[in-house]
Amino acid sequence: MYRDRGVGGGMGATKTEIGNLDRKRINDALDKHLEKSSPSTSRGINGKEKERISVPSTSAGKQHDQSASLSKNKCSGEESESGSEASDVSGSDGDDTSWIAWFCSLRGNEFFCEVDDEYIQDDFNLCGLSSQVPYYDYALDLILDVESSHGDMFTDEQNELVESAAEMLYGLIHARYILTGKGMAAMLEKYKNYDFGRCPRVYCCGQPCLPVGQSDISRSSTVKIYCPKCEDVYYPRSKNQGNIDGAYFGTTFPHLILMSYPHLKPQKASQRYTPRVFGFKIHKP
Ligand SMILES: [Zn+2]
Repeated sequence: MYRDRGVGGGMGATKTEIGNLDRKRINDALDKHLEKSSPSTSRGINGKEKERISVPSTSAGKQHDQSASLSKNKCSGEESESGSEASDVSGSDGDDTSWIAWFCSLRGNEFFCEVDDEYIQDDFNLCGLSSQVPYYDYALDLILDVESSHGDMFTDEQNELVESAAEMLYGLIHARYILTGKGMAAMLEKYKNYDFGRCPRVYCCGQPCLPVGQSDISRSSTVKIYCPKCEDVYYPRSKNQGNIDGAYFGTTFPHLILMSYPHLKPQKASQRYTPRVFGFKIHKP
C-alpha cells in the first residue's frame, strides 16, 4: 500500500474523507516518536515554525490533492489550486518513476535535487541518520525503491509514518549531498533555471537565489532563500516551498556553492532605496 505513488491510487472515498484526520494523527504520532527518539532535536522549536513543519510536504501534496478534489465537489472556487494540482497528478502517475524522481516532482518540492542512488547506498554517507529518523530501514528501502515484504504487514497508518520518515530521511541525506561536488553541480543547474526563485528586492533586479536553512537541526525552522547580491534571506514565494524544513538544505550550502563557483557571485548591491516625502529626502535625526 505504501508503494502507491499516484494520488488516487488505492485511496477509496472513505480514505479521502478521513484523510485529514489521519494526517493529524500521523503527525502527532511522528512528533511523539521523534521526541522519544531524539529529545535534543525537539527542544528549541519555535511553536509557529513547528506547526508549519509538522505537515510533511509529501503529505501536504497529497492533502492538497484531497482538498482539491473536495473543492471541486463543493465548487468552492479554488480553481488555481486544483488547476495546477491537476498537472501535478499527471506528472506523478505511473510506477516506473523512482521514488526520488516522484518526490522531487511534487509541488512544493522544487528546491530538492535528485540525490544519486550511489550516494545513498554508501553507508558512510548516512552515518548518524539512523538515530534521527524513525522507521529508518523501511524509509531507506522506500527511497531506494527496494521491494520489501513489510508493506503488507503494516497498517495504513504505519505506512504513512514510513512515508513521512522517508521524506525526512531524504531531506537529511539531501542536505549532505548538496555539499558534495556532484550535489553542487545538480543544484547549480537548478540555480541557472531559477528554480529557487529570485530576490524580491527591487534593486537586486531579479537576482536568482539559493535555498538556505537557518539551522542544521531538523524541525527548527523552514527553508529560506538567500540572495547573493544583497546577502539577505527571504521567505520562498510559494507557500508549499515555505513549509519545507530548512535542515534539508542546511546553513552552509549557498555559501559553499558560491565559494566553489566564484563566478556565480554577483557584484554586491550598491543601489539603495531612498524614502522621499513630496520629493524631499527624509531627514534622519
Ligand atoms: Zn537581493
